[in-house]
Amino acid sequence: MPTDIAGNIAKVLHRIGAAAERYGRDANGVTLLAVSKMQSPAAVRLAAEAGVLHIGENYLQEALDKMTALADLPLCWHFIGPIQSNKTRLIAENFAWVHSVDRLKIAERLAAQRPAELPPLNICLQVNIDAEATKSGVRPAELPALARAVGHLPRLHLRGLMAIPQPSSDFTSQRHACGRLRALCDVLRDELALDTLSMGMSTDLEAAVAEGATLVRIGSDIFGARVPRAI
Ligand SMILES: *Cc1c(COP(=O)(O)O)cnc(C)c1O
Repeated sequence: MPTDIAGNIAKVLHRIGAAAERYGRDANGVTLLAVSKMQSPAAVRLAAEAGVLHIGENYLQEALDKMTALADLPLCWHFIGPIQSNKTRLIAENFAWVHSVDRLKIAERLAAQRPAELPPLNICLQVNIDAEATKSGVRPAELPALARAVGHLPRLHLRGLMAIPQPSSDFTSQRHACGRLRALCDVLRDELALDTLSMGMSTDLEAAVAEGATLVRIGSDIFGARVPRAI
């Protein structure tokens, strides 16, 4: 049976609504980003028809191919994957948001390469919230300096923070991780006019909403399990 994408989106929106109500938040303050890595353009089209226009992609070439196939739709594209220096130009030219900035050099390239005729590129700084050696993201101790520097770059609009916490099936530890990102954001929020907390995936959506997520990034609970691409 094919994946019921519209039905899955309805379920995810229901979860967001229930969590918002439970934790005293307005569900309208939580944007649903559909993460479509390894999914077909047809699947993204079904998500758009179900009303989800914010689309997250991890791999540049795959994203560009989908943008071409879906150029008739009013989609808002978010880049959420690791960024190599030689990919910044095409990211700056084709996306509305980038969630995975964790080095000043990458931010400087995006600023220099953002076309003047486009609105400023929305930026979230990715934070290595669990201080995992192998994971990308700025260390919490280095975040304030990076945030101030990025906040001064032209052609970029620093919006907030993003994290991919260590997977855990325990709600309390999920909340702790999301709470750490929220606390880091709170420190910088007024000074840098931050309004975005990008956290919450399929398995920790409720914990993220409880801790103030304004944007949740949901892949498998919308599109089904990802089928690895043939090599
Ligand atoms: C894949 C991915 C997601 C979505 O993960 P699911 O567990 O499938 O919901 C969210 N954020 C990032 C950065 C991802 O790479």
